Amino acid sequence: MKKYDYLVVGAGLYGAVFTERAVAAGKSVLVIDRRDHIAGNIYTKNVSGINVHVYGAHIFHTSDKKVWDYICRFAEFNNYVNSPIAIYKDELYNLPFNMNTFSKMWGIRTPEEAKEKIASQIRELNITEPKNLEEQALSLVGTDVYEKLIKGYTEKQWGRPCTELPAFIIKRLPLRFTYNNNYFNDRYQGIAMGGFTGIVEKMLKGADVCTGVDFLKEGNREEKTLDLKGEKVSYDKLLFTGQIDEYFDYKYGPLEYRSVRFETEELQMENYQGNAVMNFTEKEVPYTRIIEHKHFEFGTQPTTVISKEYSSEWTKGAEPYYPVNNEKNDGLYEKYKALSEGEKDVIFGGRLGEYKYYDMDKVVMKALEMSDKEL
Ligand code: UDP
Repeated sequence: MKKYDYLVVGAGLYGAVFTERAVAAGKSVLVIDRRDHIAGNIYTKNVSGINVHVYGAHIFHTSDKKVWDYICRFAEFNNYVNSPIAIYKDELYNLPFNMNTFSKMWGIRTPEEAKEKIASQIRELNITEPKNLEEQALSLVGTDVYEKLIKGYTEKQWGRPCTELPAFIIKRLPLRFTYNNNYFNDRYQGIAMGGFTGIVEKMLKGADVCTGVDFLKEGNREEKTLDLKGEKVSYDKLLFTGQIDEYFDYKYGPLEYRSVRFETEELQMENYQGNAVMNFTEKEVPYTRIIEHKHFEFGTQPTTVISKEYSSEWTKGAEPYYPVNNEKNDGLYEKYKALSEGEKDVIFGGRLGEYKYYDMDKVVMKALEMSDKEL
């Protein structure tokens, strides 16, 4: 029977970084994924020369030099800068909230005028201690920005009223009093040229990789073996990057996730919307955004591929995308975490394994930290 030092369940970014580190340390690694492809949710697929972000748009950004240097070993990054446009009814605004947004909204020109406008709206509200996302947002940006650019979008994305959402989500949208449309504040940013799948492919070199294998069906945790399409293999340690609640068969009940559904189509035109990301911030439009994939890589192909993104509540069997990190779920997660600490020779990691809304750079950072400790 073939024996591996590590079995990595999940061929997404977290699992791939650990695999790369483990192979570099001389360990034997088997990576499996229940989907029929590697790269998890950063998987990109080439359609008519365009790299389509099949599980939603991914833009790599970080301020951590170590993370940046590490990821650059596996791809060249282009100079894409994320500058989404928000559409509210028939009004167009730049994101993140900056002087372009404010001047369009109020016909003003200077930072001082913008600050005064926002401050006067905040004063009127008189919120002392924000208790939820709505109050947090209102007390940061005032009424107009909240009503036009935050409320509808956030309620669609999270499927809950803003009064029932945790305040921290909104920290991703700071105010900026310059005419700078760069969505991120990070020092480094870009799209992996040729698509993100290539990064994972390179990271997995030196490991055995098998897709279309479901650990929760084919694995035997007591024996530490796995039925790999008819061949039995064994392992010393397990890295599990799937849902922690599913691993424990939802023993304490399921954690909540948001799922996303994409309506993707290729259009016989060169340029559909002129930007990679258009956010639809009113509640009446059922999707949250339209992604036009070619613009991530400045594509000049004759056709274009767009994806409408619909947010929905996760149900068993669907793809989980976003953990809903509110008090109730975080409490429940702590119970699963306590349980996981009793699992011998099993490591849980990644967005699903740790139930945290990690960006790609945080995933890499966490995986590197864990690898250092483990190896
Ligand atoms: N958001 C918003 N309006 C927008 C875009 C984002 O109010 O036009 C808020 C919303 O609450 C969302 C959060 O910012 O949940 C994070 O959005 P982002 O697009 O940065 O997250 P991603 O889905 O890309 O991880």
